[in-house]
Amino acid sequence: MIEINGLTKSFHKSIVLDHINLTIAKGDVVAVIGSSGAGKSTLLRSINLLEVPDEGTVKIDDLKVDMAKKSKKEVIELRKSTAMVFQQFNLFRQKTALENVMEGLTVVKKVPKEEARKIAEQHLAKVGLSDRVHHYPKQLSGGQQQRVAIARALAMMPKILLFDEPTSALDPELVGEVLDTIKKAAEEGNTMLLVSHEMNFVRKVATRVLFLDQGIIVEDGTPEEVFSHPKSDRTKQFLANYY
Ligand code: ATP
Ligand code: MG
Repeated sequence: MIEINGLTKSFHKSIVLDHINLTIAKGDVVAVIGSSGAGKSTLLRSINLLEVPDEGTVKIDDLKVDMAKKSKKEVIELRKSTAMVFQQFNLFRQKTALENVMEGLTVVKKVPKEEARKIAEQHLAKVGLSDRVHHYPKQLSGGQQQRVAIARALAMMPKILLFDEPTSALDPELVGEVLDTIKKAAEEGNTMLLVSHEMNFVRKVATRVLFLDQGIIVEDGTPEEVFSHPKSDRTKQFLANYY
């Protein structure tokens, strides 16, 4: 279980996350929607300390971290408990698909190389890339690169997977294969926090939807509740642009 309490972040005195409270149960697939600049990426990046929050705590199972006062050890533990998939894939360009998936296992988790290779091969097979393990990122399509990134995240067996607009950089014809991969990971019980503008996908796959507006969660409910019966005017306005 993930518990976020009072998570706050400002940039240059403008508040981007305003005392966010959020509890995510194991197996939940929580989608975050909201306008550009709402703070969606900052929320994800604050959870794994890619951004350092000004205040607030994040608790992942037994690990509770006071985010503004975290120790080096807590940063490492928090990073081990989370895995992020970025819009721009962020693969190591000089490493093959297999080496990309192995890297975190050997370096962060200290898994012996041969075992890491097996785990990496299994995860690449799961995302349908058994025939691409020795390819370098530049030899792969955007959709394939993103599936490598997803395999890399899943291989780490994180407590929570963080996806920040994982399909936004893809050509439209490649979006489906990546969404299918994420859907499969969701169905396998992985806990996820996902920022996406793919409203049809969110509706189908999310167990819960948050609408973030100016650093505040103004809507929190099932996809049916948020999409069909939004409570706030801001949510209604936002959704009107999609439907
Ligand atoms: P988008 O849908 O465009 O990705 P978002 O909801 O992910 O938007 P964030 O990237 O979290 O929004 O940004 C929220 C606000 O914080 C924006 O006003 C942005 O300009 C500001 N911001 C984000 N990162 C930084 C930074 N490193 N330095 C200064 N301001 C930042
Ligand atoms: Mg963003």
